[in-house]
Parts: sequence; structure tokens; C-alpha cells
Amino acid sequence: MYRTKTCGELRLSDSQKEVTLAGWVQTIRKFGSITFIDLRDRYGITQLLFNEKLTEQLDKNPLGREFVIQAKGTVSERSNKNKNIPTGDVEVLVSEFKVLNKSAVPPFTIQDDTDGGDDLRMKYRFLDLRRNAVKKNIELRYAVNRATREYLHQNGFIDIETPFLIKSTPEGARDFVVPSRMNAGEFYALPQSPQTFKQLLMVSGYDRYYQIVKCFRDEDLRADRQPEFTQIDCEMSFVEQEDILQTFEGLVKYIFKEVKNIDYTEKVERMSWDDAMWNYGNDKPDIRFEMKVANLKVEGKNLFEELNQTDFPVFNNAETVVAISVPGCSDYSRKQTDELTEWVKRPQIGMGGLAFVKVNNDGTLKSSFDKFFNAEQLKALAQYSKSSPGDLILILAGREERTRKAISDLRLHMADRLGLRKPDEFKLLWVTDFPLFEYDEEGNRWVARHHPFTSPKPEDIEVMINNNPLIENAENYLDHHYAKIKANAYDIVLNGNEIGGGSIRIFQRDLQEKMFAALGMSKEEAQHKFGFLLGAFEYGAPPHGGIAFGFDRLCAILGGSESIRDFIAFPKNNSGRDVMIDAPSTIDEKQLDELQIKLDLK
Ligand code: ASP
Repeated sequence: MYRTKTCGELRLSDSQKEVTLAGWVQTIRKFGSITFIDLRDRYGITQLLFNEKLTEQLDKNPLGREFVIQAKGTVSERSNKNKNIPTGDVEVLVSEFKVLNKSAVPPFTIQDDTDGGDDLRMKYRFLDLRRNAVKKNIELRYAVNRATREYLHQNGFIDIETPFLIKSTPEGARDFVVPSRMNAGEFYALPQSPQTFKQLLMVSGYDRYYQIVKCFRDEDLRADRQPEFTQIDCEMSFVEQEDILQTFEGLVKYIFKEVKNIDYTEKVERMSWDDAMWNYGNDKPDIRFEMKVANLKVEGKNLFEELNQTDFPVFNNAETVVAISVPGCSDYSRKQTDELTEWVKRPQIGMGGLAFVKVNNDGTLKSSFDKFFNAEQLKALAQYSKSSPGDLILILAGREERTRKAISDLRLHMADRLGLRKPDEFKLLWVTDFPLFEYDEEGNRWVARHHPFTSPKPEDIEVMINNNPLIENAENYLDHHYAKIKANAYDIVLNGNEIGGGSIRIFQRDLQEKMFAALGMSKEEAQHKFGFLLGAFEYGAPPHGGIAFGFDRLCAILGGSESIRDFIAFPKNNSGRDVMIDAPSTIDEKQLDELQIKLDLK
């Protein structure tokens, strides 16, 4: 037997017991003629005491960090207890030991505060995974996985695997493709999600399906994306939106309880997409704090009427003017407001400048545009923005889309400054009633906001059927019927992050065909790409809908981290490389030959 106990389990009550431990050498401390060794395994650290005789042996054949050893001995109470670790009351007086394997000197120190930089730790990820900080994330991931399976199982869902080698039907992201040797010149694609398969399973009658499944998207990687990532993918039959929302807020609450011991008893808030954009400038607002947006002017129309009486060119020339009232910041210095101005001028935010009003505690108002607004007008503005004494009103002006996004970013930035985004406070939100279509100005066509299988809201189905998608005047696409159609789709948002999204699906062949046509697909193209689904809809497809959660992101938020990479055992870097195994890589001439592929590298 290699071990009778783990390195995490010995307590005072085990005193005098004979035990055998096995693990990795964390530290070696020689103390005169004796030696202390901290031995580590997945479960913890136990102090070993090597007596004089064994220390002499160590002098002849020294151990090093990360050597794998086995040690036999007696558990004994420590005189110098370590209150920081659960095994800190005891040590093992070693009687014999054996080196099971040596270790080269690790490229970085394997401890909580490591000296290894990001790249080095990724290259030696198998060593990084030994560190507590990473291990606790991997364990949390497993806890979320297990809770998910428990809840879904209890609710009648079954896990059904779907294929990874499928047909390429790019919509949204680019597909990863896999050449077929047996069908030379043809390619599989890796699934961006099991969307069509889970819908086919509904046609097959498996009315509650789930899978914790890898998905693949060949996107240019933004900071916190992975080319392969994991979804909790679910689908249900004979349901309406309400059934889905109830079932899956139940799942998240169950995970909260099991993983974080949090009783999320409050009602999960709901908000329409229109309201989210209007009040927060964002379709995934963080509602742990208020700071709602005041809309002074939108698309050229002055909603705050005083704007008609003033002639501040910045406001007059802008399409949109929006404001937030930041509590407790009216005493910001010139330096601080300058800093904020620089912040909104950065290219990522892209604003020309920042206007502000200080709502002083004594009731006076001081703005950065006093030349253009008299006291009465400033007072009206403070009222319109629903500010209170002590607030600093921050105002942005510019093009609608950019300005709305900027005020949302600024809102989050100010909340960060004020410590209003506490990682241990969790607030869920459903966002519903998304637009079904988005207009792609470059391609001059409609694209599906979620995906082309999403149903319009019941009341908008007629609008879709009875109107031609063609746009005569692309400038005015917002006036087209299709711009107003709402989707039977929903996102679940946790602390300002979209953790999941889904929709009620189209389940009738003719409506699905109409959808493909609206997206600019010819009948032949629709048949070529999705004939299997259209065909299946002819054989008794039940009404159905579903959702998919971003599993990596959910774990990261529950672990209080910004980065999903920390919660994936073997992640890829920002250029999509696995630097540990060095992938992607070239393949042999012979392999290419078998695939009948010739490279023509640009
Ligand atoms: N398959 C969708 C996605 O990956 C989720 C869904 O509609 O269920 O976003």
C-alpha cells in the first residue's frame, strides 16, 4: 500500500497512530541535526519530522522540491502548532521513507504566491495545477458540474451525447473544420453548439435533454474567450418561455446553494431588452447597484426640454445625450474629473469628452458648462437626472450606439471605483424580448440576433409572415417592420455577465423557411444546409425551447474571478494556442497526402 492516509486528514485525535503518507516535497527545513519536510498531496500538507539518523541519510542523498516520496511513521502532537492549516496540530515522526521519484527543479515555485509568470505557468500547466489557487478552481468547477447534473436529473432531464463531427453551417462565428480522409475533399465541422441536434431530439420525443458539452468557435479571441469552451446545454418540449425561466432560475439557485451555500430566496428580476438598453445602456446590466441612465436627448430629440433653451454646442450637435448620477462624488477634485475625462476619451470608450455637474451637499450646483446653463437650468437638469445632494452627474454626448455603450462602461467603472461590485454578492436578472433581427449594414441584410431557430414572439409571427424582408432604403432600416419584431428569447445575467441564453424555437417548416428567406438564404441554400431539420419538422415536431449556459464563465463568477482561463484545466492562450502541448502544429506530408490536401500558404 502506498499510503494509509492523505496529507490533509491527520488531526490531534490520530496521535500515536502508525501511518504511511505519500506525496510531493513542498519544503525542506534543516534544523540542526533534524529536518522538517512539508509533504503535499491534493488534500493538504502534513509536516514530517526526520530524526538525526534519517537526516544523515538525507545529507548523503538529498531530497529536492517536488520529489515524490513515501514516509512511514507515528503521528505526534506538535509543540509549535500551525493554526493556518487543518493538520497543523500534528506531525509525523518518520521511521522510514522511500523516494518514489525524483523531480527536476520546477521552473517556478509551487505555492500560493508563485514567482512564475503567466506564460511559464501555461507552459507547465501540469505543475501550475498542483498549486492551491488553481486546484480550488478546478474543484469548484467539479462542484458546479455535479450540482447541475443533480438538479437536472431530479427534474427529469437526461444527458444525451451529440456528435462532434458535423456539417459546416456557419452562422455567427466561423467553424473549425476537420478534413475527411474517407471522403476526400469533404470536411466535417466541429459544433459551435449542439443546437440542431437538441432540437432533433425534441422531434424524437426526448422532451428534457441536457449535456455539459464542449463547443467550438473559431473567433478572433477577445480577452476572455476560448476557442473551445463548455456549455450546459438544455432543451425541453411542450414549454413556453415561463416554464424555461422557472426551471433554469431553479438550476442557478440550486448551484448557489450547493456550491456557495447561498440561499437565493429573492425573486429573480426580469427586464425587457428595451428597458435594459434605456436604463443601463446595456443588455446585461449589473443590477447590484442603481445608477440608472438619464436620457436627456435620444436620436436627435430633446427629452429634457430645457435643452431647447440652451445653446451648449456639445449637446446641440449630438444625436444622444445621456447622464448618470454617481453618489458621493460631488467633491471630486479637478484632477479627478480630468482623469475621468481622459478615461472616456480612451479609444476603447471613444468619447470626445465628458461634461459634469457637481450636486453639492449645500444645495449649490457647479458644472463644467456653466457658461451655457444658468442656475435654474442646472437645477432642472439635476432634477431630471434624479440626482441627490452629494452626487456627481456625468454626462456623455455623441452618436447613439457608441454613447449608450460608453455610459454603460462609465457606470461600471464608477461602480468599481466606489466598490459597489462586490464579488460575494450575487444578483440574477432575466432579460427578455430581444429584437429578433439585427441589420448588417455591410452585408445589407438581416441577421438573426440569437440564431435562426429562434421563434418570434407569438404576437409578431403574423408581422413576419405578412411582410417582405427586403429593404428599399437601408438608411431607414429601423423603420422596417422587421426591426420591430421581438424574439421569444431570453438571457440570464449574473452580476453584469450573460451566463446563459436561449429561446423558444420555431417548430413549423413553413415558418422556419420564412426565417431562412428573411436572412437572405435561397431555398436551395436552406435545403442544402438545413434540409435535415426542415425535413424533421414535417414529422410531428413538438413545440420546444431551451437554453445554454456558459459553464466556464459561470464557474469563474462563482469563484469571484474575471478570467475563465483560471477555471479550465488546460486552457489556450490569447492566440488560441496550447503552449504546453504546442498546438496547433504542422502535420506530416504523409498525413496531408492521405487527405489529398495541398497547402498554399499565403
Ligand atoms: N445554442 C444556443 C447558443 O449556443 C443556446 C440556445 O439557444 O439554446 O447560444
